Amino acid sequence: MARLLDGKRVRDEILAGLVPRLERLRRDARPPGLAVILAGDNPASEIYVRGKVKACEELGIRSEKHTPPSTVTTEELLALVGGLNRREEIDGILVQLPLPQQVDSRRVLVAVDPAKDVDGFHPFNVGNLVAARAGPRACTPAGILELLRRCEIPVAGRRAVVVGRSDIVGKPMALLLLHEHATVTICHSRTSNLAEECARAEILVAAIGRPALVTAAFIRPGATVIDVGMNRVTDRATAERIFARAPEKLAEFDRKGALLVGDVHPLEVAETAGAYTPVPGGVGPLTIAMLMSNTVEAAERRLARCFA
Ligand code: NDP
Repeated sequence: MARLLDGKRVRDEILAGLVPRLERLRRDARPPGLAVILAGDNPASEIYVRGKVKACEELGIRSEKHTPPSTVTTEELLALVGGLNRREEIDGILVQLPLPQQVDSRRVLVAVDPAKDVDGFHPFNVGNLVAARAGPRACTPAGILELLRRCEIPVAGRRAVVVGRSDIVGKPMALLLLHEHATVTICHSRTSNLAEECARAEILVAAIGRPALVTAAFIRPGATVIDVGMNRVTDRATAERIFARAPEKLAEFDRKGALLVGDVHPLEVAETAGAYTPVPGGVGPLTIAMLMSNTVEAAERRLARCFA
C-alpha cells in the first residue's frame, strides 16, 4: 500500500511555524492585515473565502471582506483595489476568482500592488518566479513544494510530470519543480499519449479538473502522486465508474448526493503509487496555509523598518 501524504499535518506544521513570527509582528509593530475581495455570489468562492477568513481569525491576522455585488464593474473594482493599495495597515490583497463575467479580471489583478499580491498572480511576481527571484508564489503549488520537502520526498534529479498548464496551478508548479532541479514535463489537453507521458514520472502532479482521469495506467509503480483536483461528482454513473469496488463510498454518495473526487483515481493510486495525497485532506489544506504564510511575509517585508 502506498504512503499517504497528510496535507493536514503539513498545514499544521506550516501554521505553527508562523506563530512566533506573528507574535513578533504584534509585539514590535502590528498584526498583518489581509483584504479579501469576493465579488458576486459564487457559492464555491464563498466557501473558499470563509475558510481563508477563518484561518486569519485563528492565527490573529486581521482580515476584512469586501463583497461588491455581481453587477460590479471593472472600474468599481479598480477603485476598490486602488484604495486598498494605499492603505498602510493592509499588507495583502486577495481577489477571489472567478470575478463576474463582465469584469476584466486581468486588469483587476494587474492593479493589485505587487508587494500586496499574496496570491502571486501579478505579472511582476510571475516574472520573479520565472527568474527564481524572491517574491510571493502561487499558494497551491508553493504548498505542494512544502509538502514534498516536509515529507522528505527528493525532487532534484527526479523526472516530474505536471498535468495542467493553468496560471494558478500547472505553470507555477512546473517552474517551482524546475527550480528544485527536477526534469519537468508539462502536459495538457492537447498532449498526445498522456498516459505514457505520465507513466514516466517519478513525481506526478495532476491539476486537471477531471474526476479520476489519472488511473493506474498513468502511474509509474512507486511514483509520488500529487492530486490537486477537487471535483464534485453528482451523477451516479460517474460515482459507479470510480467506486465500483468501494460499496461504502457508493453508499456515501447515495446519502449525500455528491462526492468530492480528485483528478486521480482514489483506489488505483493507493495500489500503484509509492506515496500520494488523498482528496480531501491532501493539497486542499496547504493552499490556505501558504496564503497565511504569504500574508505574514508581506507584512514582515512592509514592516521591516520596525525591526531595524
Ligand atoms: P484549469 O481549468 O484552469 O486548468 C486545467 C488544465 O488541465 C488545463 O491546462 C487543461 O489543458 C488541462 N486539461 C483539461 N482536460 C484535460 C485532459 N483531458 N487531459 C489533459 N489535460 C487536461 O484548472 P485549475 O488549474 O485552476 O485547477 C485544476 C484542478 O485543481 C481543479 O479541479 C481545481 O478545482 C483544483 N484546484 C484545487 C486547489 C486546491 O487548493 N486543492 C486550488 C486550485 C485548483 P488546456 O490548457 O489544454 O485546456
